[in-house]
Amino acid sequence: MISEKMRKAINDQINAEIHSAYLYLSMVSYFKSLNLDGFAQWMTVQTQEEISHAMKFFNFVDERGGRALLQPIAGPDVEWESPLAAFEAAYKHEQYITGRIDNLVQLARQEKDTASEIMLQWFVTEQVEEEANADGIVQKLKMMAGAPGGIFMLDRELAARVFTPPAAGA
Ligand code: MG
Repeated sequence: MISEKMRKAINDQINAEIHSAYLYLSMVSYFKSLNLDGFAQWMTVQTQEEISHAMKFFNFVDERGGRALLQPIAGPDVEWESPLAAFEAAYKHEQYITGRIDNLVQLARQEKDTASEIMLQWFVTEQVEEEANADGIVQKLKMMAGAPGGIFMLDRELAARVFTPPAAGA
């Protein structure tokens, strides 16, 4: 059985992950409006990943005998100045999520909740990758500033991203 404090914190994280999906789906629409279909594909996969993160937390709460009491999802930003600005926002958002995961780990330790702490290890590792992915694209966009052909090359590269569901039990 999960403690009420931990259940509530994970419940809030389900909301944060779905809000992340909402933000990235908003970016899909932004990139489509610019005809950057590869960028849009990359963000579509990102959206799917965030939903899978939410489901991981959702299923965990259920397995521990708690209930996920779903809350309203805050509206995402809908407009960005440039593809670079959008990816900078994505990178900043992932840093925020990393901070939230770290806080959950601290709470699990306070609560002596080993099962939650072990479950959260996956997210600690995942966040390293999430930040590196977003920052990597920010850096590429910065390097190609002033070279308009670059963005179309990057668009082709980002089009190749496919969604791979996390392994069962992982
Ligand atoms: Mg996430």
